[in-house]
Amino acid sequence: MVKTFPGWADIDKDVLRELLNVSQVIASQQGDREGLSIQVAKADGRKCERCWHWEEDVGVNGAHPTLCGRCVLAIRDIVI
Ligand SMILES: [Zn+2]
Repeated sequence: MVKTFPGWADIDKDVLRELLNVSQVIASQQGDREGLSIQVAKADGRKCERCWHWEEDVGVNGAHPTLCGRCVLAIRDIVI
């Protein structure tokens, strides 16, 4: 039995990523196909030392070369 998820492609990708506890979500509509198809692959980027998500912005901030941008913002106010 195929279960359909109307409007699943409109779900916020960050919410879906957190819900699935994965580093990256790419959602696309495949023509007129119904149902949900899932492929699993290694995420792009590098692993963040703090959150363990694979992000493409790890190391962008030179002061925190092992952290992703989201973690840099999270620790910004607590680092002395
Ligand atoms: Zn991080």
